[in-house]
Amino acid sequence: MAFGDKTSNLAIDHYATPSTYGFQSTAAQTKQHTDHAMLHRSLTCKPDTVSHASSIYLTLESGRTIIDACGGAAVTSIGHGNEEVHAAALSQMKRVSYVHTGAYTTTAAEDLAHIILDGNPYGLEKAFFVGSGSEAMDAALKLARQYFYEKGEKERRFLVARKQSYHGNTIGAMSVSSNLPRKIPYEPLLLPNISHVSPAYAYQYKLDFETEAQYVSRLATELDTEFHRLGPQNVIAFLAEPVVGATTGCVPAPPGYFRAVRDICTKYDILLILDEVMCGMGRTGSLFAFEQEGEGVVPDIITIGKGLGGGYAPIAGVLVHKKIVDGLRAGTGMFNHGQTYQAHPLNCATALAVQKLVKREGLVGRCKRMGVVLERMLRDKLGDKMYVGDIRGRGMFWGIEFVRGKGTKEAFEPGLEFGVRVQRKAFDLGVAVYPGSATRDGIKGDHILLAPPYIVTEGDLATIVKVVVDAYDAVEREIR
Ligand code: PLP
Repeated sequence: MAFGDKTSNLAIDHYATPSTYGFQSTAAQTKQHTDHAMLHRSLTCKPDTVSHASSIYLTLESGRTIIDACGGAAVTSIGHGNEEVHAAALSQMKRVSYVHTGAYTTTAAEDLAHIILDGNPYGLEKAFFVGSGSEAMDAALKLARQYFYEKGEKERRFLVARKQSYHGNTIGAMSVSSNLPRKIPYEPLLLPNISHVSPAYAYQYKLDFETEAQYVSRLATELDTEFHRLGPQNVIAFLAEPVVGATTGCVPAPPGYFRAVRDICTKYDILLILDEVMCGMGRTGSLFAFEQEGEGVVPDIITIGKGLGGGYAPIAGVLVHKKIVDGLRAGTGMFNHGQTYQAHPLNCATALAVQKLVKREGLVGRCKRMGVVLERMLRDKLGDKMYVGDIRGRGMFWGIEFVRGKGTKEAFEPGLEFGVRVQRKAFDLGVAVYPGSATRDGIKGDHILLAPPYIVTEGDLATIVKVVVDAYDAVEREIR
């Protein structure tokens, strides 16, 4: 399938094509990358080589064009190949390529912190930049522990997170995650003092006779009980993704859940760490996903990633509330954590250019508006399908959960790989979506995740949804 449509008529529509940089056409490229020296996640499957990418399109070495409807893993925000961002990166590289943050800073890093934090009404005071969401999570855990250590509350050593969550792949981030297939082999190496409470996943876990409010109250009681089991004075923090990404497929919490969580944490002076690595930086239709959880629901620490650099640079961050900064100021006056490449000037300048563009073009608002369009299309075209159990999400972040029975919500038998099959068919038809395994009680299920770049048009969304429906129909026919 060829997609020749122009993506948008936005003022940001300056996207590089292969000819911009004098690349040869893909057909003329001589070296086919079929013999991979890279250690990929799978030793058996050979990923396609992407030869160039522009706007919402990926062009493969074979010459095929694919719509990137999941932004990789919800990374690409402003689309690929933006020349303004290229120029900013090059200019930074020429001015200052590296300095160590122990002794220096750069305008790129400071301006990036300012563009994210300035004017926020939540008391978020400082930003700390690293190279990945996992590193950001590790830094957040250490920061939270150090805060209490310096206050003299050294007995605080427990972390409480949620089942069916994913916070990253480093030892710390994996320890707080509960993505069991990724975690189990490494269990002897993981951190102690971590427990997991139930996710806020109403589709699978709200009981039929419960109202949403009763479900929220049950979850709140469970959290409170867990804090008491550990001794609230021994707990450092509770961690959660405001909209759960990879593990369950774009699941927002029921209304009132984060209000209840915030109140319980406040009651015991336990910190609330929100992981917005996947759902943050505009993707759900507000700069921070937590902003949609109601007034006063403010975390003490937030991690951000993916959308921050929009895929143009490996950058993630930790945003820190004044309360924590003041705690450190009153103590040692330092954050006892540092990495050689933290706040790397190239990454910061690149992310700054992305964020300037997001702001100037009103792309967060656009995400919200186009999210309404995408939701309508998904519900209209897929809502009644036999194996579509749930459609949920916000902004440019939507999950479709597939189940064997709409009434029972029972998962497909293991090995059928319904979601992966839909993903493969959609790819064959020219659209990349992200498969995953929504889970109930440890039984692997199926979902796909849609996370298009914020610049998609209504026409793009119609194409994406049509392909997803065609892919779904083909898989339904195969297994019926
Ligand atoms: N937190 C969440 C919610 C994520 O989805 C991810 C990655 O998918 C991470 C943390 C880890 O980020 P990274 O892969 O950049 O280390």
